[in-house]
Amino acid sequence: MNMQNHPFNLAHLLDFAGKYHPTQKVITRRVEDDKIVEHTYKEVLSRAKRLANALIKLGASPGDCIGTIALNTHRHMESWYGISGQGCISHTINPRLSMKQLHYIVNHAEDKFILIDPIFWPIIEGMHSKFPKVEGYIVLTEKENMPKTEVPNVYCYEELLESSTDDYTWPEFDPHQGSSLCYTSGTTGDPKGVMYTHISNLWHAYALSLSDAIAVGAQDTILVVVPLFHANSWGLAYAGPMIGCNLIMPGKRMDGQAIFELIDKYQATTAAGVPTVWTNLLEYADASGRIMESLKDVVVGGSAAPPSMFTRFREKHDIDLIHAWGMTEMSPLGTINRPSGGIMSLPDKDYRRIRRKQGRPIFGVDIKIVNDQGEELPRDGKEVGRLLVKGNWVVHTYFKAEQPAIDGDGWFDTGDMATIDPYGYMEIIDRAKDLIKSGGEWISSVDMENHAMGHEEVSLAAAIAINHDKWGERPLLIVVPKEGHKPSKESLLTHLSSEFSKWQLPDDVIFVEEIPLTATGKFSKLSLREQFKGHFG
Ligand code: ADP
Repeated sequence: MNMQNHPFNLAHLLDFAGKYHPTQKVITRRVEDDKIVEHTYKEVLSRAKRLANALIKLGASPGDCIGTIALNTHRHMESWYGISGQGCISHTINPRLSMKQLHYIVNHAEDKFILIDPIFWPIIEGMHSKFPKVEGYIVLTEKENMPKTEVPNVYCYEELLESSTDDYTWPEFDPHQGSSLCYTSGTTGDPKGVMYTHISNLWHAYALSLSDAIAVGAQDTILVVVPLFHANSWGLAYAGPMIGCNLIMPGKRMDGQAIFELIDKYQATTAAGVPTVWTNLLEYADASGRIMESLKDVVVGGSAAPPSMFTRFREKHDIDLIHAWGMTEMSPLGTINRPSGGIMSLPDKDYRRIRRKQGRPIFGVDIKIVNDQGEELPRDGKEVGRLLVKGNWVVHTYFKAEQPAIDGDGWFDTGDMATIDPYGYMEIIDRAKDLIKSGGEWISSVDMENHAMGHEEVSLAAAIAINHDKWGERPLLIVVPKEGHKPSKESLLTHLSSEFSKWQLPDDVIFVEEIPLTATGKFSKLSLREQFKGHFG
């Protein structure tokens, strides 16, 4: 053998952090009482090992799925490592899923134990009889916050840790073994599980850490708004211990003020989250006249960030908004927008336009766009096609599925429509199912929302297709005004007409107090389409 071939276990990342970044911290706003607590990586490592010992004592064995229903906290992060580090599968469950989806997911994964935040305990009270395979529940809290319950086999996380030791060595196994499981929210049909492996997560963590990805180092502090329960929190809970940056886990408070306070108090240098969170933050900053001084970058993804968001971060706060695109099936990082050498000499307007796109892949992922016949389309920034991906951290076969999710050449169809320009930057035009098809022509709902959210009186806007007798579908725009504002339909249409032709303009604009969100914080177009079905007669 020419070079060494070490076995790899994701928990080695935490071992490394305990040794080489022992003083760096995981800072948490607790879910029970919003109190902020700090733990060094050394402590997190010790606690993850205690959890591993405790789970073994309770009867967990390698290969078992262990669910978590929890927000971003040190305890949830420890459980990732304590579970998959001992060879079990850390199955993150989105607490905002419907009962039907939860029922399906827990039983499909055959979870043996569930670790749960105390605030979500009522879910179990209502559903435990529907989870026959679950042998016990561990509530992520200390004794005094334990729920009073008749449900059998309920354990207190902190008590389990206290009664265990951290004398534990992570086992060695095939790094292609499953480490963690996440289900897509399944807007159509049953949710589908994606089983990540130790090695796919390692690849992803390396890629994520590059300076053309999230670009953080051991002096940085990342605010992890993206949930640990969905799509691996964009891999940040793996990249953090690897790089040695501090991680801030915000618990349950997602309002602009709470997020601002964490950034300010802990001098966060980077933050990652979906656009709706940043809308709240910017609105709080505007209203309070405060500036985010420590932040260099804000990473945004999950759904398209409107152009006005880039301008607001840059002009008011001197922050680069970094657009990223990905999906559960991709661990999730697909592309991220950092400036390539090729675009630096472009005129400012063109440069800014490109910097708002969803970005380029990092080595390890390849992308292409194809037409309905599956033929590859040119990378000219104009042709729109279905976006296909392949790579080392892209799904091959959904959990327990019989058929692979990829075509014969290894490409996975993302269900997104996109362009790719000559510099390699990809831009999402829409999800294929959200495109509005009017009289045989397409209107991008994403474009319309983005432009509407640039209107000075608009906080949020969603565009959906409504069936129409003559045109097949016509756009309807649903708007949440900024607090204290009352924009008119006419002013919205005038604003949109600078970008859209007359036939593309929405047939109606409806003002609402809030837009329903999916379990992952995106506009729930499904609910909106249901709600406004038949709006055009
Ligand atoms: P869910 O479907 O459960 O929300 P995902 O998080 O996996 O789960 O969603 C992935 C989808 O989100 C992508 O296929 C794409 O449509 C959308 N998406 C993610 N990031 C972006 C982005 N930056 N811009 C536009 N759409 C995005």
